[in-house]
Amino acid sequence: MNQPIDKERLDEALELIWVLDEEGHREHDRFIRSSDDPDNTLLLKTLIDDGFILVENGTVRLTPKGQVRAKGLIRRQRLAERLFTDVFEMPVNAVLDDACKMEHILSEELTESVCTFLGHPPTCPHGKPVPRGECCKKFRVDVAPVVTRLSEFEVGATGKITFIVSSDPSRINRLNSLGIAAGSTIKYLQKTPSCILQIDETTVALDPEIAKEIFLKKI
Ligand SMILES: [Zn+2]
Ligand SMILES: [Zn+2]
Repeated sequence: MNQPIDKERLDEALELIWVLDEEGHREHDRFIRSSDDPDNTLLLKTLIDDGFILVENGTVRLTPKGQVRAKGLIRRQRLAERLFTDVFEMPVNAVLDDACKMEHILSEELTESVCTFLGHPPTCPHGKPVPRGECCKKFRVDVAPVVTRLSEFEVGATGKITFIVSSDPSRINRLNSLGIAAGSTIKYLQKTPSCILQIDETTVALDPEIAKEIFLKKI
């Protein structure tokens, strides 16, 4: 009769338990009470049978295996939120659904790349902690995130443009016509009052707003 529970629902339940723990809810009342629903009973049973949770005195707890799984899911979700809001500049409220899907898609290696690329952010756009990964431990010895915005780049340094994000495609075309494109090497000469950079033998002044849309890697 009962359909097996799909993986996404199991993952969502693990995330919910993680968030309740994080918020300091000791008793997972709400979760248990909703288990009157036969579908939720099956969900809980599946999580117990798979070794992700255990129920003690009416309280749901993550097993060590459940913690590893939930931590990974939460980490991917919050990094995806950062990616959408910081890089693609989407409003925070618009990103949650996509971020929820992303966490099921991002592989472990991709997650590390995204985390490194974003500079190992400590929190998501909602201010919730991003669980740390292996890359974040290594990061302590590294100096800086791999990619930064031109507006935050070090004056006098040389960098290679990794990409340009703009809501206005004609702006990207104009930048490209100046030689400012993914793959170009530039030297950052001045930050204020206007942002000045050098490409080959040419110096170009940019509006500081545009400098925020250019991402580059120090070389
Ligand atoms: Zn968030
Ligand atoms: Zn990291």
